[in-house]
Amino acid sequence: MKKEVIAKFCDQAGINDWMLHRLNRKTYNNYIRVINYHEIYLKDKRQFESHLRFYSENFSNCNYKTFEAFLRAEYSFMYKPGIMLTFDDGFKDNYENAAPLLEKYGFTGYFMVSSGLIGKKKYMSVDELMDLKKKGHVIGCHTHSHHRMSNTDSQDILNKEITKSKEILQGMIHDEVNIFCWCFGDKGSYVNSAYKTIVKSGYKYAFMTDSYPIYQRCNPMHIQRTNIQTYWDMSTVKFQLCGFMDWWFMKKRKTDEAITT
Ligand SMILES: [Zn+2]
Repeated sequence: MKKEVIAKFCDQAGINDWMLHRLNRKTYNNYIRVINYHEIYLKDKRQFESHLRFYSENFSNCNYKTFEAFLRAEYSFMYKPGIMLTFDDGFKDNYENAAPLLEKYGFTGYFMVSSGLIGKKKYMSVDELMDLKKKGHVIGCHTHSHHRMSNTDSQDILNKEITKSKEILQGMIHDEVNIFCWCFGDKGSYVNSAYKTIVKSGYKYAFMTDSYPIYQRCNPMHIQRTNIQTYWDMSTVKFQLCGFMDWWFMKKRKTDEAITT
């Protein structure tokens, strides 16, 4: 059965709301939900805006400073959990369609870009990245060539995709790039040799996609994200956020976190 069908059923039965409420109550709202999006097509802009409206009613924005303070347990979310909206791959539509809406609702965007794709057709330019940064958004590194890590990667490849890409991005935006974001995230795409290179390259945070809320003092190299498609209706969005996916990913998450430790 399609996820959307299950999500709709759960929504109509009040299960999504009940589970989200339960998660919030259990954690005293003190967690961050990190979402990952990809393209934000013009045709999905209205739907994306309805997601943002829901987030703004039920979550608090988490800017970079708050994110760092929260991980150090120097900041707590009390009335509403935090939310971080991340966008993978550096698509131009993120700049054109997503960023203005993020600003309208007061959200910080976290844009994970591949240094080798910047300025290419359909991807953001250096000026656009600079503009996002100026507006308070955050740029993270998503390898150089949108590379899926593997056990057969030579150290040269790892240096190019992880270390060099950080330097290239930093040179472009004239600022530190502290976030690394793994590509693909499917089974087998997290490997220890790449993890070691990520640490050695000086990244402070690594973002993954095995769905789990972020808590204070959690491992900064295991920032888990929950996937959301822009075209999904609110019942599916709520289904993704209510904790079901965290349970669904439990086994994979444990494996991937063991590899990247
Ligand atoms: Zn990607």
